[in-house]
Amino acid sequence: MSNTSAHETSVYVHFPYCARKCPYCDFATRGLPASAIPHTAYADAVRNELRERAAGLEGRTLRSVFFGGGTPSLWETRELGRVLEGILAAFPRRSSDLEITVECNPNSFDDAKAAGLADVGVNRVSLGVQSVDDARLRFLGRLHDAEQALAALRVASRHLPRVSADLMFGMPDQESGALRDEVARVLDLGVRHVSCYALTIEPDTHFGALHREGKLRVASEDHYADMFAAAERAFAGQGLQHYEVSNYAVPGEESRHNLHYWRGGEYLGLGAAAVGCLAVGVGRAERYRNTPDGHAYVRREEAAEGPREVERETLDAQTLLRESLMLGLRTAEGVDVAFAEQRAGIPLATGRAQALETALRRGQVSLQDGRLRVPREQWLALDGIVASLF
Ligand code: SF4
Repeated sequence: MSNTSAHETSVYVHFPYCARKCPYCDFATRGLPASAIPHTAYADAVRNELRERAAGLEGRTLRSVFFGGGTPSLWETRELGRVLEGILAAFPRRSSDLEITVECNPNSFDDAKAAGLADVGVNRVSLGVQSVDDARLRFLGRLHDAEQALAALRVASRHLPRVSADLMFGMPDQESGALRDEVARVLDLGVRHVSCYALTIEPDTHFGALHREGKLRVASEDHYADMFAAAERAFAGQGLQHYEVSNYAVPGEESRHNLHYWRGGEYLGLGAAAVGCLAVGVGRAERYRNTPDGHAYVRREEAAEGPREVERETLDAQTLLRESLMLGLRTAEGVDVAFAEQRAGIPLATGRAQALETALRRGQVSLQDGRLRVPREQWLALDGIVASLF
């Protein structure tokens, strides 16, 4: 896998609507029936933002486009296609293996949707399957059942060259054997990339409230560690590599968009709640965050009302190094030290020589071929290791 060129840029488009809010989710999204979503106005607003932001981006190469959410498969395909068309026009230079992904939910994904997405140029879908067990899907408050999830994966494989599935683990009553079976059922359909996340209880969610009231059990740390190991064994047995803490892929099928981000690549964010981060010379970058409210984002465009951005910060050299560690150490390939230093303009050891030496001595990180890595057997302790290097 080659490293990220300084001029390669990815684009993330956030779609802030879902059919219904899931009880564990704290993403910037609002539950709305498809008929109440401002499909065209939202696409117009994103295209306007793109026009304004793209003015300073001439000469860059487009690495990937990712429509995330929310549930972008709820967006009328024609409108999503208009946004994609605008992005492609803004970046005449594109990677030869340009990846264009749309996150989809099984209950808003069928043959017509898949064929439509392929028609407008999408070449990868990421399906929010979460589970292929009916009881677990009900627990998670999802709108689809196991058969719909599997049917959506079959449909996706028929129409699109690359398909990823999201699976969740770490539910209190989930046995490792059951997780192994779920992984096998998904991979049997030819899926070559899986994002496998632990259920986490976020405070500002329905699950968060239930947990505070003592009405929701969570998996113990030991149980979580068992599940993590079971998932790794199940994927390895089917030839998928654990290339990032929560992601598994057949070699060559890794998410190019996410790898670009974990490698410290630059990205443009468009839409409500979107975040973008672009370099401003060596050792400095500007990061912005848009208003999280989709309706406010659209109103702002229609009536030139209020600021689109709710946050903008300048990242200095040391912050850039911390980001490189935080993101790069999540991956099996680790941090490309030369690239991180080139981006920040200062050596990686600046201010952390002692901490690095200690982590190396303890075997919490390794340095080989210019890459700093956290060994896989230490991934469950990753957050603490990264914090010790901040
Ligand atoms: S569908 Fe996804 S983004 Fe939407 S509420 Fe559920 S978990 Fe959150």
